[in-house]
Amino acid sequence: MKKFIKMNDNQRNVHNTPFSKLNSKKLAKIPPPQKNISYQKNNNSNNNYNELNKINNVKKEIEKELFEEKSKNENKKENMYLMKRNQNAIDPEAIPHPCEFEDFYLNEKNENIFSTDVGKHPPHSITKYTVNETENSSSRLIRSSLIKFPTDQNLLNKIGIPFGLYCQPFADFNQNEKEIPKVNASKGFCRCRNCNAYANNKCKLFYNDKRQRILVCNLCKTENIVENNDLFNNEENLELIRPTIDYIPPEVMNKKLKKFIPHYCVMIDISNISYELGFPNYILNCFLNNLNSFNNPDNSFICFATFDIKGVQYYSLNNSHEINIILMNDIKSPFSPLSSKYLFYNVKTQQEEISILIEKINLYITKRRESIPSIYTNIGGSAIISGIDSLSEYGGRCMLFSCSSNKSGYGISSLNYDVDLGLNFMSNNEKEKKNNQEEEKKLLNSENEYKLFNEQNRDFNEYINKCNKNRIVVDQFIFGEIDYDLNKLENISSCTGGGIYHYKFNQKTILNNDSQDSINYYYEKLFYDITRIISRNNVYGINATLRNTIGIEILDIFGGMNKIVNMNTSFFSIGGLDPDSSFIYNLRLDDYFKKDQTIDFQLAILYTDNFSQNFLRVINYTIMACDTVEAIFASADIDVIVKLSICKEIFFLNKKSCIKLEESMEEKIIESFASYKKLTKQHLSPQLILPAQVKLLPVYINSFFKKMYFKKFKNLEAITSMIALKHFFIRSSLYSILLFLYPKLYKVKLEKINFAKKVRLSGENIKANRMYLSTNGQYVDLYIFNYLEEEYYKTIFNLNNFKECVTDIENNKILDEETLSKDIVGQRLLKFIEKRKNENLGFYSPLRIFFVEKEKAMRFEELKNLLVEDEMNFERSYCYELVYIHNIVESKLK
Ligand SMILES: [Zn+2]
Repeated sequence: MKKFIKMNDNQRNVHNTPFSKLNSKKLAKIPPPQKNISYQKNNNSNNNYNELNKINNVKKEIEKELFEEKSKNENKKENMYLMKRNQNAIDPEAIPHPCEFEDFYLNEKNENIFSTDVGKHPPHSITKYTVNETENSSSRLIRSSLIKFPTDQNLLNKIGIPFGLYCQPFADFNQNEKEIPKVNASKGFCRCRNCNAYANNKCKLFYNDKRQRILVCNLCKTENIVENNDLFNNEENLELIRPTIDYIPPEVMNKKLKKFIPHYCVMIDISNISYELGFPNYILNCFLNNLNSFNNPDNSFICFATFDIKGVQYYSLNNSHEINIILMNDIKSPFSPLSSKYLFYNVKTQQEEISILIEKINLYITKRRESIPSIYTNIGGSAIISGIDSLSEYGGRCMLFSCSSNKSGYGISSLNYDVDLGLNFMSNNEKEKKNNQEEEKKLLNSENEYKLFNEQNRDFNEYINKCNKNRIVVDQFIFGEIDYDLNKLENISSCTGGGIYHYKFNQKTILNNDSQDSINYYYEKLFYDITRIISRNNVYGINATLRNTIGIEILDIFGGMNKIVNMNTSFFSIGGLDPDSSFIYNLRLDDYFKKDQTIDFQLAILYTDNFSQNFLRVINYTIMACDTVEAIFASADIDVIVKLSICKEIFFLNKKSCIKLEESMEEKIIESFASYKKLTKQHLSPQLILPAQVKLLPVYINSFFKKMYFKKFKNLEAITSMIALKHFFIRSSLYSILLFLYPKLYKVKLEKINFAKKVRLSGENIKANRMYLSTNGQYVDLYIFNYLEEEYYKTIFNLNNFKECVTDIENNKILDEETLSKDIVGQRLLKFIEKRKNENLGFYSPLRIFFVEKEKAMRFEELKNLLVEDEMNFERSYCYELVYIHNIVESKLK
């Protein structure tokens, strides 16, 4: 088979990062000194409005004072000492950091095992642990923001912690964890006649006086007579023992469902910009080289189609291996021109045909480009709909790859700004466009900014329903910094359970500099994203219902399915879910609970896997009521709280400006911390007392706004990035989100046996004569500086200097077991990296090596973005943020 580009796990890129910024003292952020600010106490503060105004004024005052002090003392070393002398001072070493999380969870017996007993606090999602399912379902699948919830909504409001239930129902398990048992339900299920819940490990089974078997429902306490003698007559009634069950549904149910076979429709943009970037060729090769990586290749089928401004081109081979090109030019009502058997090829048995097809598509694209005018836009929206149509028979994924904006057909861009590529063809309405662009720029970063995130376009609603019915998922890969209108097109992916991947870089710079090196960097990311999707155990045709004990109301479900969910029954259906996809229920209490009373949840999901098998997964989870404030705060789950707090705000990006989002989130943290101090009677203490379990909330939220292309920094192009990020936060797992917000950074030390030490993500901790390793949930990145002590090159790589390292990496030799120093240190580093690569369950994180040179001003992004404790994008440093929160909390308590 002909391979166009050689790709393998060892492919690495050389990147040179400017060192100057890191080396300068400017980056070493010293927290600003904090002056004692006295406030006039208003004795008639019963008026809420006055109260609010007062707080706002105080806020402004503090901001101003801190800012002035900060600029005055910018370069004075005494800063640090001033801070330490001050009674409210915050020492960066003393404040809480996520790097304090242990890499390994240990239970009270010092084992790496977490037993899922009711009321027990689960380990952090980014630590390594093994689950032993006892009472609740695995903490990988389900966890609540409060393990112990307040007895009523009033108390919950006071505490100010968001209350919700996180679900990642298809999360990967580690190899030591028991598989989810499969229970054959050919003879039927046992369900509660009152609430329809499935029999589970928390139901009680007993005989009554009439020798009837009675099953007491744990959700509604109804006593059900089990009449079906085929049920629970085995010695081992797994469904009454294990909290998580995969039922194999009875034949009658299977017959009702259409046959599902995973089909992958690959849609590639071949507009001019795409062609110039070598995009179509690259995508085709990614798939060609990945045919054996499909999750179930025997059962998987693939089709390749391309699109430009004129329409969609489908390809198929005839019996003598000649290519047929089928044009679909009806962009107003797109369809698939042939039935799936002519368009799709089996990824295992038809590899030869696929190889020939890809070669011929490449030739055709080149020819087509010569014959049509150089146009840099496409019909992405129409291509998606055509792709959906091609999948309607068997279901699967429509994967759209676009390099330019969609300007005709479905979901066309309403934003008129054009990224100045210097390549755009002249439009007749150029002037009008310019005016609109000016208007939009005025909206940006203003209170009315949300208008730019206009309401979702309804064009796609009909197709979303079609996808969910036919088990189709839509993924979008947006390559480059373009005005691809995600406002319109986000919906079709998020509401079908698909992903949005945005590779933000300036196409013009890359094309002009002819710099293959930097484009390779984005191509590599794209390659891994594609591989991850096709190789995972994705599931399709989701029908999910959450049942629970009376007394709880579901306010929202964040996860993309909001618009189609039936809130009364909490039922939703979605095209598919990945092992990493999650959703979160936002809850409120509408009843009073007694201490130790429980709320039981049961999530039941009907789904189909890549092997065309249907299952019904039942997940059970219980939390407990509690009436003491300390215990409720102690039961808080920071991982879930971070995700829920963010989802609750960004979901309304189209209703609130970014400035408002940040204010609102800060306000909530402050309220909660102030209540904690007040309710636990610590309000006399001058220190900022953070509730232990949620002490890291400020650092995560602070980091979040550094990732959002925030207010003063934001330009129009950032809108696509923001929507892509919103999609990421709403859909991703706790593991991905927490590591995205605060990656792990290790300092590689030679001296010690356990030579890698985790460090804070702040510039002052980065030194040019050290080596660093980071994990961000996707990649393991190794940073090698050109000022590294010579000893490092010798001891680890068996090389003399930085230059030799760079040469080695170009020849793909670095960190190979053979060339690596036989010295114990080099081998140990390799082992350490190997462990980090495997930390991610379900997929292997690839290693990237970054060379950081002082002399060369090349890409700096990766390392700079890591340092989330520093001041960034006009956002406060983490230390400064804590000082700020502390001051407001104090002023509220006075
Ligand atoms: Zn019931």
